[in-house]
Amino acid sequence: MVKSLVLVINCGSSSLKFALYSNNDKLTLEAEGLAESLNQTTGKLTVKLNKAKQSYPLDLSKQDDSSHATALSFLLARLSENFNLEDNLLAVGHRVVHGGKIFSESVLITDDVITQIRECIPLAPLHNPANVTGIESMQQLFPETPQVAVFDTAFHQTMPQYAYTYALPFDLYEKHNVRRYGFHGTSHRFITIQAAQIFNKSIEQTNIVTAHLGNGASVAAINCGRSVDTSMGMTPLEGLVMGTRSGDIDPGIFDFLIKNGYSPDDISAMLNKESGLLGISLKSNDMRTICELAENGDKQCALALEVFCFRAAKHIAGMMTSLDSIDALIFTGGIGENASLVRLKIVEHLSVFGFHIDETCNLDRDKRTSSFNGQSIHKDGSIPILVVPTDEEAMIVKDTLTITKNASN
Ligand code: ADP
Repeated sequence: MVKSLVLVINCGSSSLKFALYSNNDKLTLEAEGLAESLNQTTGKLTVKLNKAKQSYPLDLSKQDDSSHATALSFLLARLSENFNLEDNLLAVGHRVVHGGKIFSESVLITDDVITQIRECIPLAPLHNPANVTGIESMQQLFPETPQVAVFDTAFHQTMPQYAYTYALPFDLYEKHNVRRYGFHGTSHRFITIQAAQIFNKSIEQTNIVTAHLGNGASVAAINCGRSVDTSMGMTPLEGLVMGTRSGDIDPGIFDFLIKNGYSPDDISAMLNKESGLLGISLKSNDMRTICELAENGDKQCALALEVFCFRAAKHIAGMMTSLDSIDALIFTGGIGENASLVRLKIVEHLSVFGFHIDETCNLDRDKRTSSFNGQSIHKDGSIPILVVPTDEEAMIVKDTLTITKNASN
């Protein structure tokens, strides 16, 4: 039997997303879902299969295994009811958040690779341990199945030193690797490949600014198909306003808050979980809610929307400084793909650079529900502006298939 199933696993700090693909004549998404609340005693697993969603409680009260390992074995048992994983699982692709400066591309997982992912734990203390647990649990359950690591940071390893260096004492970089790394690399890379196809160019000829706007948000400058700058930094906290993350703030605020009685842990929780759209609006981290309430006259939500759009535009403008020329500005992610008001407001700030939105095309994009590869939303004479849906899981599957195929040859 030719094995054809590929499992994609994305272990977050308290969640585990998965997608199961078959790769016969074409790549097909067979099942997907999420295990959540893995930091509680009872979690929840949701599996979407054949368009039907089913939820299961997860008992995480026993301490003899990690919650991620428990969730994974329960998930595999559910999937095995419909798929012959034992005989048919070709490979597993793992999303790994931080590859530090070690990984500039996806790799086949070996013991050395696991050690190196562990070495990056100080840079992503919440995420990399969960990623390692996911990898090791799969190794135990499927010891013969090849596994591939796909790093959020890898695509941005082509940034020049002047773009990734903080103006801090240089020994912080030399001793502790304090520098900018960037994230969402799998999405920015996927969009770059899509853009090359849309413009009928080689990837090496493709020059774009990508705006991945979701709960987490980042922009990137892609020159000659390579990432040359991005808004996220050493951690995914830098840059744009996000759902609950502050993005850029004056580092002096940290000192101010410490002197006013806040602990480093309080500040970290505030910047990561209580800021961004939620912090300004005092109501929601969800852009749909923010837009609805802003349109109904809620002043805090209107302000959150304006700050989000202004900051995004400012960063997009900043990305232009890294390009030789520009083929397009591309919006993606849950907000980038669906929120016409946000796109309109961002582009309004960018008219001096030659970006002009076509309001009808922009609105029309939101009404489309069927899948599409990319849609232009600019006026004649403007630098092209496109909306292109991202698919990080598909990128992980493609890397996993390429790497496992090369390894077996
Ligand atoms: P994540 O970073 O969790 O992957 P997503 O890319 O799924 O996030 O994006 C989630 C965000 O997209 C949320 O803020 C959500 O409100 C927003 N979003 C999704 N659909 C719409 C819509 N139709 N209008 C406005 N915002 C939307």
